[in-house]
Amino acid sequence: MELWELSAWEIAEKVKAKEISAQEVLEAHLSRISEVEPAVCAFLSVLEAEARIAASRVDAKIAKGEDPGILAGVPCALKDNLNMKGTSCTCGSKMLEGYISPYTATAVARISEQGGVITGKTNMDEFAMGSSTERSAYMVTRNPWDVDRVPGGSSGGSGAAVASGMSALALGSDTGGSIRQPAAFTGVVGIKPTYGRVSRYGLVAFASSLDQIGPLARSVRDAALLLEAIAGFDPADPTSAERPVVPWSKRLGRPVKGLRAGVPKEFFGFGVTEGVRSAFSNALSHLADMGVIIEETSLPSLAYALDVYYVIAPAEASSNLGRFDGVRYGLSKRGKGYLDMYRETRGEGFGPEVRRRIMLGTFALSADQYEAYYLRAAKIRTLIRRDFERAFETYDVLLSPTTPTVAFKIGEESGDPMTRYLADVMTVSVNLAGIPALSVPCGFAEPSGEGGSGRELPCGLQIMGKRFDEETVLTAGYVVEPFIREEMEEKSARMRRNLILAKECEPVD
Ligand code: GLN
Repeated sequence: MELWELSAWEIAEKVKAKEISAQEVLEAHLSRISEVEPAVCAFLSVLEAEARIAASRVDAKIAKGEDPGILAGVPCALKDNLNMKGTSCTCGSKMLEGYISPYTATAVARISEQGGVITGKTNMDEFAMGSSTERSAYMVTRNPWDVDRVPGGSSGGSGAAVASGMSALALGSDTGGSIRQPAAFTGVVGIKPTYGRVSRYGLVAFASSLDQIGPLARSVRDAALLLEAIAGFDPADPTSAERPVVPWSKRLGRPVKGLRAGVPKEFFGFGVTEGVRSAFSNALSHLADMGVIIEETSLPSLAYALDVYYVIAPAEASSNLGRFDGVRYGLSKRGKGYLDMYRETRGEGFGPEVRRRIMLGTFALSADQYEAYYLRAAKIRTLIRRDFERAFETYDVLLSPTTPTVAFKIGEESGDPMTRYLADVMTVSVNLAGIPALSVPCGFAEPSGEGGSGRELPCGLQIMGKRFDEETVLTAGYVVEPFIREEMEEKSARMRRNLILAKECEPVD
């Protein structure tokens, strides 16, 4: 077995036991990056020099008999909207080309404190707006399972880096599904923690009442380990919660017999494909065999979740992105006066999707539309939150597919942005309610319309939990993994071999 194939917790154990060094682990990952990155295009920057320093520090600590931390020597990639002092942070946008972070995000600092080794910054849809990485101003990341398909988004670079073995762990951010959807598309585990569980300090804001940072990993245990490292109160983020951090990675493996799970029927009104549906029902019957009590339930206001999200998220984004004015950050186009500078900088720096969202958000917040759009959306958001609260009086977890389809083809998107927004239907309500949710691979399916092609792609099971009850969500996710372990191991070994032969990415304009 190659070192880059080891799980994060195995790496940490072996590094601590001096069986392998953090530097060896890093070099194995760096050579894996040079081998498959040309075909995957997951990284906007690889931080070789910084990573080598970090890895040698971990080894030095161990040599001195000090505790290197729970992530000792584990390589971790960062979505490019997380600041790390002295390194570039583009958010996938021309607006921040060449921008160097003056400080480090709390979640990133915590990874380093725990011995994790930051290896690079991953590609993303511009300012995290999108579901495919096709909205990145720099390049399109390809899905390691089929390089003609998208890895999902907006944390698509993080998903692809982990799935292809370039990184054991990665951080993403999730405003409406951007950790869970790429996790599902790339066959890895992704968690959107409870709002407030992880400090957002140092994450470039998209929609502040929805954004959360969270892990992507190849197993539930690895994801739990990374969550343990980054969670917890941070005085620099007043919305972070003063809740004790649970040693989640050590709490896994508890029986699920008697766990009550609800399946909200509203999720199935929106074009869930046959393949995804059957992977989902397989997972449900395995869970039922293990003694999980599964019932259909109803959360009526879920029908409005997409509409509410696509008012609230753009509204908050239009305000957050006001800071990119040509004065303080990144791109600056000098015009005749400050208004010219503002207009030209934003006109050139932002791509079409970002501009669309800013316009939508500005409209929804304007004096004569505010009540009709933003205020109404905020009220329905409360109803959605209450529906979840009510459901959690009966159920410990709620289950759904993570996405209605498997990964779609690069360039498949029609001219109508609404089509793509509809794909977020399974994930956005979780952010509106602020609850935690995990996506765990639960099977494989052929893309619809390609029956018999033999091309199977991963599907995710979404497990939603009560606020701050990541423990139950992780416990349930952990028992799903064995259902497809053999199939996953066999198929991912083939996928990783094939990647070596895949053609290089072509530059996009
Ligand atoms: N796809 C959703 C959007 O475009 C979610 C993005 C996210 O979670 N950052 O808004």
